[in-house]
Amino acid sequence: MRKIDSILEKYNDKQLTISVLGSHSALDVCRGAKDEGFKTLVIAQKGREKTYSAYLKSVGPVGCVDECIVLDSFKELLTTTVQKKLISRNSIFIPHRSFEVYLDFDYKHIEDNFAVPMFGNRYLLKIEERNMRPNQHDLLAKANIRIPVLFKNPQDIDRLSIVKVLEKERGFERAFFLVDNYKNYKSQVAKKLKAGTISEGQLENSVIEEYVVGVQVNFNFFYSLLHKRLELIGTDTRRQTNYEGIVKIPAQYQQKVLKMTPLKYEESGHIGVTILESLLENIYEIGERFVSTCKKLYPPGIIGPFALQSVIIAGPPKKDIVVFDVSPRMPGSPGITATPYSEYLFGKSISMGRRIAMEIKEAVRGKKLLSIVT
Ligand code: AMP
Repeated sequence: MRKIDSILEKYNDKQLTISVLGSHSALDVCRGAKDEGFKTLVIAQKGREKTYSAYLKSVGPVGCVDECIVLDSFKELLTTTVQKKLISRNSIFIPHRSFEVYLDFDYKHIEDNFAVPMFGNRYLLKIEERNMRPNQHDLLAKANIRIPVLFKNPQDIDRLSIVKVLEKERGFERAFFLVDNYKNYKSQVAKKLKAGTISEGQLENSVIEEYVVGVQVNFNFFYSLLHKRLELIGTDTRRQTNYEGIVKIPAQYQQKVLKMTPLKYEESGHIGVTILESLLENIYEIGERFVSTCKKLYPPGIIGPFALQSVIIAGPPKKDIVVFDVSPRMPGSPGITATPYSEYLFGKSISMGRRIAMEIKEAVRGKKLLSIVT
């Protein structure tokens, strides 16, 4: 019997609380959970708690955060005291990217010592890291999904490529840069190391990838284990600073600005976008292949939300989809409710937070909660 099962057995499943770390998509999770009749709890960090403890706190019919636990540091979430508190509320925890980032990507600890039942497959979370094996690239390749050409050796760079390296200062923030040959790579690396923006260690874990030119779309899926059904909930594209600002500068000034300000890909939000209906079948097929590969390599496979960050590229022979990144968890793009895909399925627009809550509710009714948590 799994440790989680014995914890769940003691739960009052009529009094479940949906719990989430106070960042990323916590409000999406909480609103969806409340709309499905659950209690909600946010674990916030001192100094950034007001969103949850004041502005969006539940007061009568307004707000969506019923309880806010404020910690000195997000890392305290891994302490026995905090976990006991969550378990005492019959919590089902929803992981998102900030949960991984603020716990220092300590997947071993999350897998072995985080005692709160988690919606989804916690053993899949680590595939997001490029230095893990099998990681997202391995899974995509195994699923026969088109990915960008990878250059293991910088000497092989023969086209515009993106070097995926993290910042030295903030180990989670991107310090990506573009190169088009080895000479260019070497000179940029030397400059960045000298300036201290990247470190040798970060560079060792970096990935060099063909820069895919096309339209970026994130496909936000939900795999329902209860229905054995792949659902496209919505599609979005990212807004990144200062990339977006630089693209909007007239061409004759771009070079000047780039000399003073290096290009950055820091997230600032998302925009809901739609795609050609004729591409949908291809996208579902890619999603299906990803789901079935995950089932083989990381049983029980995907449960719930995942996103495939993709680029739609031009033909000939015809438009194609290249996937350059996978998010095997709750996406951080609440704007997807503005896209029509969940409405096509359910007759009304459904957020990812709500879709998760619907699945949990249905699992409780059918006494199948054990199968959708790890
Ligand atoms: P990521 O951290 O993988 O989500 O990448 C951050 C951003 O870098 C993306 O949102 C894209 O704007 C850009 N990017 C990453 N990989 C590629 C690629 N292979 N081709 C083109 N742009 C990319």
